[in-house]
Amino acid sequence: MAACNETHNPALRSWVSSANTAACDFPIQNLPFGVFRRKRSNEAFRGGVAIGDQILDLAAAAQTGLFTGDAATAMQAGAQDKLNALMRMGPQAWHALRLALSHALRDNAPEQATLQSCLVPQAQAEYDVPARIGDYTDFYTSIHHATNIGKQFRPDNPLLPNYKWVPIGYHGRASSIGVSGQAFHRPVGQTMPPGATEPSFGPCKRMDLELELGIFIGRGNALGDALTMEEAEDHVFGICLLNDWSARDIQAWEYQPLGPFLSKNFASTISPWVVTLEALAPYRVPFKRAAEDIQPMAYLDSEANRQQGALDIQLQVGIHTPKMREAGEPAAIVCNTSYRHAYWTVAQMVTHHTVNGCNLQAGDFLGSGTLSGPTLDQAGALIELTQGGKPPLQFANGEQRVYLEDGDTVVLRGWCEKTGATRIGFGECVGTVLPAKPHQSI
Ligand code: CA
Repeated sequence: MAACNETHNPALRSWVSSANTAACDFPIQNLPFGVFRRKRSNEAFRGGVAIGDQILDLAAAAQTGLFTGDAATAMQAGAQDKLNALMRMGPQAWHALRLALSHALRDNAPEQATLQSCLVPQAQAEYDVPARIGDYTDFYTSIHHATNIGKQFRPDNPLLPNYKWVPIGYHGRASSIGVSGQAFHRPVGQTMPPGATEPSFGPCKRMDLELELGIFIGRGNALGDALTMEEAEDHVFGICLLNDWSARDIQAWEYQPLGPFLSKNFASTISPWVVTLEALAPYRVPFKRAAEDIQPMAYLDSEANRQQGALDIQLQVGIHTPKMREAGEPAAIVCNTSYRHAYWTVAQMVTHHTVNGCNLQAGDFLGSGTLSGPTLDQAGALIELTQGGKPPLQFANGEQRVYLEDGDTVVLRGWCEKTGATRIGFGECVGTVLPAKPHQSI
């Protein structure tokens, strides 16, 4: 488990002056990884590190000869068009690269003269999904989300009996994961309208968002070898924002008995920047359940997890309607919550995933599940915020929403802040619902 070290020192400032402003997501204490190229260019995508409003181009920096040893090897790996090779290297290499970048980007660093030419403004960049994602698993780690959803189907018994014992998850679809800026057509499919005797076919009418965090696996584990709670986090590269869009009406009709299928696999949107676990070290908080609650089984428990297994990541959901965009108004904020409310931690997800010998691979992706907090205004999906579509959300401009309409853009944001540490952010995860494509059967 990464501890705080000199790279987290709040006194550090960068020669990239935009990194030193108070509200900046990417100060020198953050140093998240992504892949990028200049917009509208046919340059190759390559790894980069966000610093202030700039990107340090890892492919260019690797050519300078300024870096040596483990940091240079890690930088070469990070210079590729996907970050899998860097992810596969493990925490020692990630730390060596982070430390070298922290030194080279500090105020008065002698590297400034050379590295200045390796910066690309974020405003001129476009991004790609940062890893070749082999497999995507979506968990269900918010007990508040599970309870809110369960209440709509089973008012007297909202939480199923396995929930407090098993970190519930299912295998998702990797091919339709896109990076922030993704726009997708409203999915078409089968639904069973309330009161109807037969299903209908047509565009989804209950298009929802899901506020989640995404976890990128670093080093994998061999098939047959389970990871322990003590080992789990050494296999986690970092965390990004994830909107796991959901077609609720398609889901309600298709999900029994094998779970969601076409209601989930048409699109999932992630933020371009992956914040490393090491960067998040100052924001660890104890993982605890009430004494009278069911406690995790021994294989899902560890002293380190109890002391600091949870993360206090602030999360926010905004909806930006076409009308708001035309009027130049900001998005309406519909939810503020924190990852600290999750019922299962990152280490527990990884440990549980491998307990049967399942092999995780570098670049595999885990979704946390919708991260709803304890009260309804902290709910991370519209199905909860509108209690199954009943009271619509009222926006300041007079508009209402029950579910998402065509043209709506959803903006997720995440950041960490507390006294005594530097605020770090995840940037944005932006996605837009387009009208359904014409279909021959409609
Ligand atoms: Ca989900």
